[in-house]
Amino acid sequence: MNRREFMEISAASLVVASTKGLATTVSSENKPWYETMLRCGQINFNEQDPLSMKADEWMDYFASLKVNAVLLNGGGIMAFYPTQVPYHHRSEYLGSRDLFGDMVAAARKREMRVVARMDCNYAYEEAFQAHPEWFQRNADGTPTRHSECDWLYKTCMFGNYFTDQMPAIYREINQRYTPDGFYTNGWPGTEALEVCHCANCQKIYQEQTGGIPPETTDVRSAVYRKYYEVYMDRVSFVWKLWQDTVQEKNPQSVYVGNLGGGIRTVKDVKRLSKVASWFNADNQGRGGNTPIWMCAQQGRVARSVMNGRTVTNVIGSYSNGSITWRHSSKTPAETTLWMAQAAASGMVPWYHRLGGQPEDTRWEETGRIFFDWIATNQAHFRNKRSLADIAVLYPQSTIAFYRSNGTSTRKLNGMTIDTTEYLEGMYAALLEGRFLFDFIHQENLNSETLKQYRALLIPNAAYLRDDECDAIRNYVKAGGSVLATFETSRYNEWGVPREDFGLQDLFGVNATGNAIGPYNNSYMRMEKAHPVLEGFAGTKILPGPEFRVPVSHLTSDTRYLSVVPHYPAFPPEMVFPRVRQTEEPAAIFSQQGNSRIAYFPGDVCRSYWRSGNTDLSQLLINSVRWLMKDQPASASIKGPGLLETFAWETESGLALHLLNYTNPNAMRPFVSQLYPVGPLQIQVQIPYNRKISSVRALRMGKDLPFRNAAGSIHFEVSSVTDYEVIALT
Ligand SMILES: [Zn+2]
Repeated sequence: MNRREFMEISAASLVVASTKGLATTVSSENKPWYETMLRCGQINFNEQDPLSMKADEWMDYFASLKVNAVLLNGGGIMAFYPTQVPYHHRSEYLGSRDLFGDMVAAARKREMRVVARMDCNYAYEEAFQAHPEWFQRNADGTPTRHSECDWLYKTCMFGNYFTDQMPAIYREINQRYTPDGFYTNGWPGTEALEVCHCANCQKIYQEQTGGIPPETTDVRSAVYRKYYEVYMDRVSFVWKLWQDTVQEKNPQSVYVGNLGGGIRTVKDVKRLSKVASWFNADNQGRGGNTPIWMCAQQGRVARSVMNGRTVTNVIGSYSNGSITWRHSSKTPAETTLWMAQAAASGMVPWYHRLGGQPEDTRWEETGRIFFDWIATNQAHFRNKRSLADIAVLYPQSTIAFYRSNGTSTRKLNGMTIDTTEYLEGMYAALLEGRFLFDFIHQENLNSETLKQYRALLIPNAAYLRDDECDAIRNYVKAGGSVLATFETSRYNEWGVPREDFGLQDLFGVNATGNAIGPYNNSYMRMEKAHPVLEGFAGTKILPGPEFRVPVSHLTSDTRYLSVVPHYPAFPPEMVFPRVRQTEEPAAIFSQQGNSRIAYFPGDVCRSYWRSGNTDLSQLLINSVRWLMKDQPASASIKGPGLLETFAWETESGLALHLLNYTNPNAMRPFVSQLYPVGPLQIQVQIPYNRKISSVRALRMGKDLPFRNAAGSIHFEVSSVTDYEVIALT
């Protein structure tokens, strides 16, 4: 029995949850308690909260959200209970109060599970004086202090603060309160590795890596590569140690670390997923020029490694972003869209607030309305599997390591490139094309994972292992179709260049040099008809990618799109092509057995992301449609608007999730007003001849008329304001 079959059987034996939805009513003998939860809440205590925090009022609020579990500050930096563990700093205002204990009792009275929220990252001066070996050091030997609260000292993950002190605290909390789980804020995270200069670490580096690793991600360094392994091993070791520790008293307990970071991951999330029973993404909101869909991307990354196991996402109710206001509420529209993305992408929303004495209470109703709606419709959020028919390779090695000189970006012929831009461009084009897709982590490429997908899209996975290239090759042999761009497979997972593309045999051309560019004002000439080149009436040329890998030439019978080299863009007198036509292909389209292959030597996905030129997204969309061999997609949605879609087989039928991003603030925080779209004409393919007798729009609370034709269900959704879930049962 494989895991999925096992899960299906255990799901079938589940007692159907009541709409009350509390964890105790959905517990199952076969599943860990957290695998059935659908709503979480968190209140972060501050040092003063023991003075006046009202446990019953707070837990009444979370009970009104019908949360299955609530996260409450236990300790770490600061204890909110009368700890006896030496150097575990008690809140200065704790007095005789046991705030954690009060809150735990109030939560349990309301049948909520409790997870102790811990912080292992900092401790006070008294701990530093007694145990200097617990703490991280800067290169000059000084202790690393918190950037804002400099009385706090950063702990060292390689020291025994992690192996002795934190376990002692877990044991004490377990002994007194036996919470249902423990969560560590901020650790391990998925961002770049940090280098500590404490004596212990220097010894470890010398013995295990042969030197001092570079301060930042730098895979050119052999020492760094060894350090990466040593670091990831230590994270796994600590994670398992803490998991074992929290289960000593309560075998049902769980340890969960923080794995938020969206698509921008340096630490190997595949490896972390091997020790994580539950993936929590602390991806609370957006700032800068982040698109609204970052939360849905987080869901896709997490699911690419968790294989159906629990994923939660922390949703900040406060105004986070480029300027942070921890005590101001975010707009209800932005917060709700973030919660909706968590739910739509298969994560459990976890609603988060700071401080026991809020003076801004506008966030309360926002959470209540959304969570109440989820609770009312929760049967439709118990997903069994994704119905996506397209896989997008999540190129973690490229995102993590495709960098220059230890910086966080790649310098390509002088231009600074963010390593996520390729995936971002592909993602945006897929939203525009309304495709249903899942991320597949590169380390999960295998026939079992890929078999449900008709196409695999590879947005510049420059860094790929040999066995990952083999898995892609085998997928094609089995009839799968592939789209790849730019430097895909040009290097191994650490960035060591190959002689040619690792996937040269699939691409049908050889790399004849290193990537060239940046070029503006270069073009692609449409030389002859091909389905991918349809819809460009009125032009013979398309905008060329900013960078490209020069490749071997093709003869005219297989050359559909060719490179027109850059010519000056200024001054106008000089703007004419010096060379109008070349034999260098800008795209290679081929059929290999039952598979279709489209390879673009240029960075068309990134160039789209950078420019917004819709010819490039249209080219990607056309390519994907061609790969799908014109067969109907799992779902098609016609009508205006920028939407993201997810489709799931659920415990009660099928669910199609529609997120409406049509908004002037889609690319920049925060969404304030909503702009409804519709009517939308929708067609959903019904798997396994399942009988559908009802189509219901859960946000509207309305049954929809539908038509059943040749295995697909047709219906119209009159309007989607922010989010709609269509339940087909
Ligand atoms: Zn250290």
